[in-house]
Amino acid sequence: MNDYHAPHDLLKQKVILITGAGDGIGKQAALTFASHGATCILLGRTVSKLEAVYDEIVTNGDAEPAIVPLDLQGAMPDHYKGMADTISEQFGKLDGVLVNAGALGHLSRFVDISPEEWQKVMQVNLNSSVYLLQALLPVLAKAEQASVVLTSSSVGRKGRAFWGTYSVSKFATEGMMEVLADEYKNSNIRFNCINPGATRTAMRASAFPAEQPDTLKTPAEIMPLYLYLMGNDSVEINGQSLDCQPK
Ligand code: NDP
Repeated sequence: MNDYHAPHDLLKQKVILITGAGDGIGKQAALTFASHGATCILLGRTVSKLEAVYDEIVTNGDAEPAIVPLDLQGAMPDHYKGMADTISEQFGKLDGVLVNAGALGHLSRFVDISPEEWQKVMQVNLNSSVYLLQALLPVLAKAEQASVVLTSSSVGRKGRAFWGTYSVSKFATEGMMEVLADEYKNSNIRFNCINPGATRTAMRASAFPAEQPDTLKTPAEIMPLYLYLMGNDSVEINGQSLDCQPK
């Protein structure tokens, strides 16, 4: 799947929402999905970054995207519900969601994690995904085939010292994906996780400041798995957690 060659029109007619679409992996996913025919809904908190992605997509001659400025830190279920209603009115359906936005938080000893830090990271990495998906499920139900891809991490499968809240949030993400995959197994919606592996982004640089960035894969290099899971070639894949960079 990591050597998947997507047809140019793989995502034609599909409407796909990407969270954290302004930077890093989410930005690259938006550009890549658009270049394969999708109409992208760019969700993120920094409007100038979303506008830059919008401009790049339009300059490339791809379908005009939509921008949803939303800070996942403060957003409550009603915000997601309002957004879902707007998507339903504007597009009539939603074919895909890439739940990608994430916060690393501060790496520290477990005993030192403050309640504020715990709640902040959990709000962005977990709670927001719950509210987002609860709101979007009825719109995803209107698509012929819908794919939801959540973003995990290697520390979402094996706990690692000092990665406390982030690690727990990724374990919970994997759990949520499995619950949804089982609950919707006889429906048009499938749920899977991607673990990007070490990828050259701002988040990786902040976690490993001494690392040479050019030793890492770029977001563009890990896109085959994202395309595979978003397109209909993966229609039989449900409830799996897949690696962009398997060991
Ligand atoms: P980046 O930090 O480069 O990008 C994260 C994106 O999420 C940014 O667009 C950021 O917006 C957005 N975001 C963060 N907080 C919020 C918020 N409160 N509200 C709305 N948007 C928010 O991270 P990556 O691209 O590296 O990470 C993408 C995903 O991949 C994450 O889930 C991460 O945990 C996961 N991952 C990454 C790995 C890596 O090596 N890079 C490895 C394993 C997993 P803004 O730009 O405005 O801050």
